[in-house]
Amino acid sequence: MAVEQKRVALVTGSTSGIGLAIARRLASSGCDVIITGLADQDVIDSILDEFKKNYKCRCSYVGGDFTKEDEIANLCKEITTIHPEGIDILINNAGFQYVCKIDEYPIDMWNKMVAVHLTASFLLIRYFVPYMKKKGWGRIINTSSQMGLISTPGKTPYSAVKAALIGLAKGTALETAEYGITCNAICPGYVETDLVRKQIHVMAKNESKTFDQKRNEFFGSCHPSKKPVTVEQVSGLVAYLCSDEAASTTGSAISIDAGYTAQ
Ligand code: NAD
Repeated sequence: MAVEQKRVALVTGSTSGIGLAIARRLASSGCDVIITGLADQDVIDSILDEFKKNYKCRCSYVGGDFTKEDEIANLCKEITTIHPEGIDILINNAGFQYVCKIDEYPIDMWNKMVAVHLTASFLLIRYFVPYMKKKGWGRIINTSSQMGLISTPGKTPYSAVKAALIGLAKGTALETAEYGITCNAICPGYVETDLVRKQIHVMAKNESKTFDQKRNEFFGSCHPSKKPVTVEQVSGLVAYLCSDEAASTTGSAISIDAGYTAQ
């Protein structure tokens, strides 16, 4: 599925995992891409080199720690310096996981969870929607999760912010529908990225298993398909949602979870 015209896309959390795959997919469709996320300079340099070599697009990195509202404001200003007409596509994807029972969950972790997943997404939508309204076209996608539809012990704050991202998508969709803008939430199942590998490491340690043993066990049982969702599958869904064909898909929470939430 191609993005039909030259568009400018901001993909948050695109220095690794799902976000990087989305950035690659949009760049291969001809979009100019803004990469952002927390990463060492050598990682950022190698991503920029790769995009320059492989895609005919303008690719920029703009940094910012999403726990800090002033850094998000600076990121917005920097992006509009590079692209004075603003962006066409906003993928709110930055995130992290912290697993802990609710009665022991550190309050600073709760605040960080809300800031990175939810407040950052709200601030970016708030800043960039006026540019999209002016263009009469826009695409906003919030990376929620299967955990935004259901939950599991230890992931209560994560589920809370992922469910809130669905509400944020629905309200934004209603407020922007008549301006040619769509806003949706995607709800992936388990994807093998750093975020999930860190959880597998902890489970392997707690169960005195090797990482590979636990990895095979986990992905062999996590979904009805007995397979992980792949970053390519998620980025393919995002590319569809960014196309003109998806103009009537708005305000939706779309599962891509290999059947997990159908159970
Ligand atoms: P990942 O760890 O590979 O990527 C996370 C990205 O978010 C990185 O680029 C990181 O730098 C960025 N980030 C984290 N904290 C940040 C901060 N304070 N400021 C700015 N950027 C920050 O993980 P991933 O699995 O690719 O996760 C991407 C999104 O997908 C997350 O929102 C996650 O909750 C969601 N998700 C993941 C899965 C999964 O199974 N991996 C499933 C459903 C949803």
